[in-house]
Amino acid sequence: SFALPSCLRRAARARAMSAEAPPGVAPAEPGPSATAAVLSEMVEDAAVWCAVHGLVVGDRDNPRSGTVPGVGLVHAPFSLLPARLPTSVWKQALELAPIFNELVDRVSLDGEFLQEALSRTKQVDDFTARLLEIHQKMMAVNKKEDIRLGLHRSDYMLDSETNSLLQIELNTISISFPGLGSLVSELHRNLLIQYGKVLGLDSERIPRNWAASQFADALARAWSEYNNDRDGRIVSVVYFRAGYAPNDYPSEAEWRARLLMEQSSAIKCPSISYHLVGTKKIQQELAKPNVLERFLDNKEDIAKLRKSFAGLWSLDNEEIVKSAIEKPELFVLKPQREGGGNNIYGHDLRDTLVKLQKEQGESLAAYILMQRIFPKASLTPLVRGGVCFEDLTISELGIFGGYLRNKDRVIMNNPCGYLMRTKVSSSNEGGVATGFAVLDSVYLT
Ligand code: ADP
Ligand code: MG
Ligand code: MG
Repeated sequence: SFALPSCLRRAARARAMSAEAPPGVAPAEPGPSATAAVLSEMVEDAAVWCAVHGLVVGDRDNPRSGTVPGVGLVHAPFSLLPARLPTSVWKQALELAPIFNELVDRVSLDGEFLQEALSRTKQVDDFTARLLEIHQKMMAVNKKEDIRLGLHRSDYMLDSETNSLLQIELNTISISFPGLGSLVSELHRNLLIQYGKVLGLDSERIPRNWAASQFADALARAWSEYNNDRDGRIVSVVYFRAGYAPNDYPSEAEWRARLLMEQSSAIKCPSISYHLVGTKKIQQELAKPNVLERFLDNKEDIAKLRKSFAGLWSLDNEEIVKSAIEKPELFVLKPQREGGGNNIYGHDLRDTLVKLQKEQGESLAAYILMQRIFPKASLTPLVRGGVCFEDLTISELGIFGGYLRNKDRVIMNNPCGYLMRTKVSSSNEGGVATGFAVLDSVYLT
């Protein structure tokens, strides 16, 4: 059971903020019964669209899912209507993509910086230590990567207090959802082409999203840049869809494989250096005063990046640890992990900090502290398992970025589509795969 009129109210609000709405005139709302009929029809159409276009995921409730190909699939969880986003914020996020790409590339070339910045983390985080070990081996033999390919996603939330776009994190390995993300934008476009009139929404306000084909294009261009088409014999591009989590290395064999790939002349997406640049510790180090200046020359670019940085602190800052223990609700405690579900919030954050402080040694160095961002919550119709329900939600915008260079020649450096994820505002974490969030797209206002 869900409150139908408020779903339409959300749509109506979007209309009211759009340019063609005459000032002072509230858009008409259809009566409740018309609304109910339209909504259930939309949910059904959307679910069918998902099935037909492959906007599906494995169904956890089906025991054969994941073991028998093509069996046990269900539509991916999605929001029924796209999330409103001011055009200025959208442009800002797009503008940041090539600058972050360039930053990743520059930082990746400074092996000493990476080793130094992660030296304390290494002592308490075995996984990071293993990655650094591979990186160290490459430094020792002076390994150069002439062709560098980055498929990134920079994630943001719109802070409600300051109305500013703040970066959550920058992902450089195993980026999820260029595929399903593109499809959700198409789903929403199609729904608005069909129902836009009655909802007062314009399908053209959903930006086109070619993330999947743009990433595929980047991979193909890397292959042609490698310029050796003896397939079957020479591996030109290694793309990692795993390898970012300790579980991906159950034995020494996986670590040996990772090292072998790094030693090879193949283009790695990502190289060990690019991977390390994407760690939370490096994010925090880059946010320190005067660090961006080490890597970038353009002052305007530096200012743009800095504007998107939230508060980030290392835990050797006693003042901030004290503040976080006093007001844990204003912070997020992050270990060096990827994939969602690893961060620590609220009471757990306080307890963890108190416990870590008592322990002797370096255990605090495994984490960073981040300012907690509070986006404005709105009521959203969400569809999961074929059922529509309404909840208070907040959204996280991810901008995909593609980067390819060969020595001094930058072949590609641009935004490659987007991913909006929307989660129930009471939930801390945001993963779609982990079951916290739904896929969404953007409605420009
Ligand atoms: P991961 O690499 O595991 O995705 P993130 O830094 O993206 O780690 O954190 C996971 C989720 O936690 C985010 O998608 C977001 O929902 C939430 N989150 C992370 N940092 C913050 C923050 N500073 N303020 C509010 N929520 C955050
Ligand atoms: Mg991440
Ligand atoms: Mg994340």
